[in-house]
Amino acid sequence: MSSPTSAVAARPDGPAIDAARLRAGLRRARRTIDRHAAALTRLDAVLGDGDHGDNLAIGFRAVDELLDELPPTTPPGELLRAVGHRLVGAVGGASGPLYGTACIEAGFRAGSAATIDLSLLAAMLDAAAAGLARRGRCAIGDKTMLDTLGPTADAFGAAIRAGADGADAQRRALAAARAGMRATRPLVARRGLALRLGPRSAGHLDPGAVSCYLLLAALAER
Ligand code: ADP
Ligand code: MG
Repeated sequence: MSSPTSAVAARPDGPAIDAARLRAGLRRARRTIDRHAAALTRLDAVLGDGDHGDNLAIGFRAVDELLDELPPTTPPGELLRAVGHRLVGAVGGASGPLYGTACIEAGFRAGSAATIDLSLLAAMLDAAAAGLARRGRCAIGDKTMLDTLGPTADAFGAAIRAGADGADAQRRALAAARAGMRATRPLVARRGLALRLGPRSAGHLDPGAVSCYLLLAALAER
């Protein structure tokens, strides 16, 4: 007989997340970051200090190790909070505290729930985006990772409120993530190291907006 946990994980209609699915998503996130580390670092060499991919690779290797340390029964919210703290601790640059804060806030919102349904997931995405905006003192349009995460949270919430099923809400959220990422290209940076370039920051994708899209796509995959 299958456990309630695997029944949730196998639901075909989109995001209902339990600890096993979250763990699988985080493992995929590490592989995605490793695959794209060189490209992310190249983007950061144009706009920032040329280490974004390397920093995230260090961070997600540390997350992988954390997953080996924590019992598989750790609830998703607790897992996300631990992941956030590990990212803050392991990554030297700005992205560790920023992604770490987003994970910690999403984890707090999840509380001790064993499974995360669609409306809780929408609230967690909102909390992650709000935490990132607060920690980075940034707004949408500043040419940062928030330009990806903010529209993702908005689109997912709007889809759920409109009655979309999980798979459809996920599709719409990822489309918004991609559009948000791409919209950073023409922007002039108002936050982060790219500020130093002034108008010359226009014409390039923001590395954090790209990594944020890659991470969301990896987490969402099934
Ligand atoms: P690292 O390379 O260590 O990851 P960077 O300082 O080079 O960190 O910035 C990487 C990305 O982090 C940027 O492309 C941007 O998306 C994001 N970022 C940096 N500063 C901020 C901030 N104040 N608010 C939001 N995002 C930021
Ligand atoms: Mg950097």
